[in-house]
Amino acid sequence: KARKRFGQNFLHDQQIIDRIVSAIHPKPDQHLVEIGPGQGALTEQLLAATDGQLDVIELDRDLIPILQVKFFSAKALTIHEADALKFDFASLYPGEPLRVVGNLPYNISTPLLFHLLRFTDHITDMHFMLQKEVVERICASPGGSDYGRLSVMMQYFCQTEYLFTVKPGAFNPAPKVDSAIIRLAPRPKHELTAHSLETLETVVRTSFSQRRKTLRNNLKQLMTLQQIEDTGIDPGIRPERLSVADFVNLANLLTPHD
Ligand code: SAM
Repeated sequence: KARKRFGQNFLHDQQIIDRIVSAIHPKPDQHLVEIGPGQGALTEQLLAATDGQLDVIELDRDLIPILQVKFFSAKALTIHEADALKFDFASLYPGEPLRVVGNLPYNISTPLLFHLLRFTDHITDMHFMLQKEVVERICASPGGSDYGRLSVMMQYFCQTEYLFTVKPGAFNPAPKVDSAIIRLAPRPKHELTAHSLETLETVVRTSFSQRRKTLRNNLKQLMTLQQIEDTGIDPGIRPERLSVADFVNLANLLTPHD
């Protein structure tokens, strides 16, 4: 039986599962990591599609024996009974890149995404099922109401791509809202660098603290009007008009040295 507190909505639509696996397109010798395998619906097709290793991380201890029985003979599979929010992805196959996938528990999706951002050096790409609204926010371009802290931070670290929408009927039990599959590909380091991540996070959070206010008003405590103007950004605009690069420039103003 599905447990609400673990955000359990099990996939049963085989066509959707196939579409997810084709989007991931596993190749030999790759290390796949699945977060929240549940009863193994996606796990089974991932194993069929790969010759490489598959590690799965599941928090609900009642599901562990189900997975062990179901995949009794799968040599390439390692089951971790663990909390993905605390999991050290860097220690899994040190020095070898991971491909992370999962139909994520929606109640913890934002903290989980932020946790994963700490490991982007070790990750080739990520494919996740999330609430459609969250995928839209992550992928949003400047200017719209979906664009905010989540968009800026995720896009700073990753190229983001909305792949396709998944209707509630694909799950058991059916969630109340539409879902979508997103691809996140960590960017190479040099493209656009914040001197201090902490400062970037602070500037982004503070800029969006009151969306209807201007940048100048939101950032009053952090920097002077002159400082904002020095970056070439109009202090009179609303935060949603700023690009990811604008936020990095503002943050670097406060931390000029590495
Ligand atoms: N992958 C399965 C499927 O598609 O049918 C299950 C997806 S279900 C939406 C989310 C899964 O994540 C559940 O199996 C749940 O127990 C597990 N889960 C919840 N919180 C977790 C956490 N912090 N760490 C690891 N797994 C978690």
